[in-house]
This record gives sequence, C-alpha cells and structure tokens, in this order.
Amino acid sequence: METILVSACLLGIGCRYSREIKADERVCKLLERKDVVMIPVCPEQLGGLPTPREPAERKDGGVWNKNGENVTEQFLYGAREALKLAKLYGCSQAILKERSPSCGSGKIYDGSFSGKMVDGDGVTAELFKKHGIRVIGESQIGAEDKPACQ
Ligand code: SF4
Repeated sequence: METILVSACLLGIGCRYSREIKADERVCKLLERKDVVMIPVCPEQLGGLPTPREPAERKDGGVWNKNGENVTEQFLYGAREALKLAKLYGCSQAILKERSPSCGSGKIYDGSFSGKMVDGDGVTAELFKKHGIRVIGESQIGAEDKPACQ
C-alpha cells in the first residue's frame, strides 16, 4: 500500500484561488486503485489564506499576490504544515499541481502575472524535495520513469 500526498485541487476540491473546480482525470483515476491511498492537502489554505483569494506568484525569493501584498509567510507556513502531514502519513512521494507557486515543480510563473514561466519550484514542492519527498506533476502520472503512479 502506497500513501501519496496530493494537491487537493487535483481531486476537484474547490481550494483553488478562484474557487474553480478543476479535477484532474489522471489523478482521480488513481482513486480506483486499491494499493494507493491519497491524502488531499492544500498548502495555501493550510497557510491561512482565504478562498477565493488573489492569485500569487513567486518573485525575488518571496511570494506576492496580484495586489502587491507579500504572502510569503502564509506560503511558508502552509508548506511546513503540508510537510507535517506528509510525514505523519509516511508519504515518500507527492502528486502536486503543476505551475502553482506552492505546488508547482520544475516550472512556475515568473512573478510578472503575464503567464510567463521560469525554471523553479513552488514553495511546498521545494520544501518536499529538500526533505526527500519525490514530487510528481499531474502530467507525469503514468510516465515510464514514475512507476509508483502507473
Ligand atoms: S496550493 Fe496547491 S492544492 Fe492548493 S489550490 Fe494551489 S495548487 Fe491546489
């Protein structure tokens, strides 16, 4: 049995900044597997941010929302709480929403709110990787090099 932490929005929980429901079919499909248990978590909500909320992006080592408010502290707090849950449940990997300033892995928005991407991780994905938790984006599910999620 594998326990995997997952971005709650990928399962259709309305925790996105816009409160839009956007379940990912590939992630939902994993619910059918008897050998996988998923723990849904939203680091931004765990960090105390409201829903809906202003979109935010990483820039200059911090996180800023579209109104120019510094929300770094909330993002860091949420990341630490998500890590706590991953450890409580013994998750060695996490399926996290791509491109998010919290959950994104490998590529995130560049902080200009213009849709441009840069290399980098969201705050939670970065913390997870530092603690040896493998981070998988939803588009990687089923990829050959990610056997645990096939
Ligand atoms: S913080 Fe992560 S789980 Fe929460 S809405 Fe954003 S991408 Fe989804």
